[in-house]
Amino acid sequence: MYQEKIEAIKAAIAAADANTQEELEAYRMEYISKKSVVGALFADMRNIPNEEKKSFGQLVNAVKQLAEEKFQELIEKVSQANKKSKSADMDLTLPPSNHSLGGIHPLTATRQRIIDIFERIGFNLSEGPEIEDDWHNFTALNFPENHPAREMQDTFFIEKNPDIALRTHTSSVQVRVMENQKPPIRTLSPGRVYRNEAISARAHCIFHQVEGLYVDENVGFADLKNTLYHFAKEMFGKETKVRFRPSYFPFTEPSAEIDITCLICGGKGCNVCKGSGWVEIGGSGMVDPNVLDNCGIDSKKYTGFAFGMGIERIAMLKYQIKDLRLFTENDVRFLRQFKPLLQ
Ligand SMILES: [Zn+2]
Repeated sequence: MYQEKIEAIKAAIAAADANTQEELEAYRMEYISKKSVVGALFADMRNIPNEEKKSFGQLVNAVKQLAEEKFQELIEKVSQANKKSKSADMDLTLPPSNHSLGGIHPLTATRQRIIDIFERIGFNLSEGPEIEDDWHNFTALNFPENHPAREMQDTFFIEKNPDIALRTHTSSVQVRVMENQKPPIRTLSPGRVYRNEAISARAHCIFHQVEGLYVDENVGFADLKNTLYHFAKEMFGKETKVRFRPSYFPFTEPSAEIDITCLICGGKGCNVCKGSGWVEIGGSGMVDPNVLDNCGIDSKKYTGFAFGMGIERIAMLKYQIKDLRLFTENDVRFLRQFKPLLQ
């Protein structure tokens, strides 16, 4: 009875073949592993009458040996086949394959473009920590004790009393610069900022800002306007118009929002500008004398202006991107579109 079964297994082993790693593994599962047909023969041992156990055992061991020899043979065959196909693929006379080097992220490119524009008119670059204390993020910038930005819903606090938070704006870098340098100061601070916002097409909890600060004797609002006119034309094109709208920020007085003519409709009115022909790109103003004094700069002698813009906002306007989330999704289909533009 079992002789027939064993003969059939031996025939199957003799006929087995493998040309790939997968087929080799299939063979191993079928004839070598514990759950294989050969493994099952060993399990059958207990059903064999005692007087036949010895001869049955010999037969099964012979099958096991046969299966293992065949396995070694197939391993050798597959490895030879692999070597051959590899050497056949290699032609040293061919030109090298085209490696894709990727491109610059649109936010990085926008940030660099902004830096280039301001560097040419004498601004240097300054950076500061993303984890800030209350003084640099709020108090030195004239934020009143009960200002809503300090509330939990807007700021990611790491620790309360003393307050340590993820910076909510890059204005904190301006405080650090003014504390450590004497005027004249002309500096640009780009960087990542954090706010506790629900993520949507128009808002994110992580985004990037760039702030500019100019402190010297006799700096006036006309200097602020001229600097931003220059920036808007360099960044968005010569035809771009700039409009200042009165506003309020704790750290500047007077303060103004900066609008430019809508790039989509050229000022005629469209969905993006909600029909007004204008889009906002940031905020600005004359540095509040309290802020200068807080940072150890004599506000009777010096005046200054500051401005801040969202880098995502600028990139979205410049490249007509409708959803803020695309910047952080790492979808190469999105990123590839900027490759020819930004190299
Ligand atoms: Zn428009």
